[in-house]
Amino acid sequence: MASVLPGKMSLSPATTTMRLFNTLSGEVDDLVPSDGTELRMYACGPTVYDYGHIGNFRTFLEIDVLRRFLKLTGMRLRHVMNITDVDDKIIRNSAAAGVTIGEYTAKYVHAFFEDLDALRVERPEVIARATENIDRMVELIQKLAAAGSAYRTEDGSWYFRIKSFPEYGKLSKKDGARVDVDEYEKDSARDFALWKAPKPGETSWETAIGRGRPGWHIECSAMSMEFLGSSFDLHAGGEDLMFPHHENEIAQSESVTHKLLARHWMHVRFLLVDGKKMSKSEGNFFTLRDLLLKGYKASAIRLALISVPYRHQLNFTFDGLIDATAKIDRLRTFHDRLMKGAFPAGESAAVQAAVKKAQEEYFAALANDLNTALALAPIFELVRLANTAMDQGKFHQDDREAVKALLADFDAVFVVIEDHDAEPTRRAVEWAKAEGREADVAPELRAQVSLTDEAINALLAERDQAKKRRDFARADQIRKELAEKGILIEDSKDGARWKRR
Ligand code: AMP
Ligand code: ZN
Repeated sequence: MASVLPGKMSLSPATTTMRLFNTLSGEVDDLVPSDGTELRMYACGPTVYDYGHIGNFRTFLEIDVLRRFLKLTGMRLRHVMNITDVDDKIIRNSAAAGVTIGEYTAKYVHAFFEDLDALRVERPEVIARATENIDRMVELIQKLAAAGSAYRTEDGSWYFRIKSFPEYGKLSKKDGARVDVDEYEKDSARDFALWKAPKPGETSWETAIGRGRPGWHIECSAMSMEFLGSSFDLHAGGEDLMFPHHENEIAQSESVTHKLLARHWMHVRFLLVDGKKMSKSEGNFFTLRDLLLKGYKASAIRLALISVPYRHQLNFTFDGLIDATAKIDRLRTFHDRLMKGAFPAGESAAVQAAVKKAQEEYFAALANDLNTALALAPIFELVRLANTAMDQGKFHQDDREAVKALLADFDAVFVVIEDHDAEPTRRAVEWAKAEGREADVAPELRAQVSLTDEAINALLAERDQAKKRRDFARADQIRKELAEKGILIEDSKDGARWKRR
């Protein structure tokens, strides 16, 4: 399929200003770099103790949509994401498996990036691993202790003293009265751990504040300070992180810097599955890999997870996934027709006006608090209108250029028209084989991935030859064989094309 490259033909209005809901102010605020050049943002990353589930990826995808849209409007970004590669679960699971935490997490870090690639999530400019920044965390705890905000308990753990930070709760509008379940001694039930003394056999670091390991919250404060400075533009994560994680980050950082940690806070609402919280015991828990093995395309999963605006609860269903698959088919078929069709020279005033209107509505919807649902509507409306114009011979060569530019802007953010679906599916099937999960691979997928693109092209060439020598029986047999493996052939006057079902 021809590529949909964003770039010089972009219709992006240079004047677009992003407006985004800000949890801190409670209002939709302009999102602009405070230094006038580069937007500095921090997004909490994964805890790598298992494979990512679709709820995790919903959050990373929404942040990707924001990133890509900001770039489309010409903004420069410095986006930092942490990887939590040490925590209680990681320590427990690695000990149970008899490996070091590094050995244990390596597999899930690798899987996480493979999954991000499958979903076409762009890499942040900086990826920071907790275990590589322990010194920064220790230094921050020392500064907190010097400021009277941190204290050490008898077992060698360190806690943050919440009563030293009167603004505690300003983000979530809560005050931390919730009783913490940590089994460590502390002055006040609300105080949270900065540093945990090791229990026998647990992974730990020997440091200036004693032996132990960092708490989760201090990680993000220390690493955002290291890579973005003491105050930055945007902090993002799923809604579950607002309290206590982000509240604790604010308390730790601002107690030392006396500056606003982040001016803008973005929280992505949770994903539900069939109207319920996703849970393993409910049987409605899905990793990305589970869905790929069921035969759903990565692009359809991406579209299903971003079609509902980030501030709305997304109810994930298989019907929604099927609908996303149909939408992508429609876009790709139209794009093919657009690229390959023969149109008369010139332009049509009606098509040109429709493209301009769609372009304005598309940008306005995304600029207005990243409303992905509203942004999709004008694109599909334009596809409908252009298809009709083509049917009636009223679509011209210059219309093609205008529509191509709009689709390029669309795909710069949604990233579903260009077809990269074969690779993630092939990789998921290979992974399932390696993990002894072959039984989970959908039967039609098994046949499909056994055919490489080269093998399909070779069969098509053979079919062409067969037709030329009027051996229609062989030609038909090849078509049938491919159809059984989910490969559809379309004959046109320019020769045969194929696609995977
Ligand atoms: P974790 O690896 O659990 O720290 O989570 C990584 C990211 O996924 C965080 O930003 C979470 O807020 C987010 N997250 C976890 N579960 C869901 C869910 N069901 N829906 C949306 N985001 C989620
Ligand atoms: Zn964080």
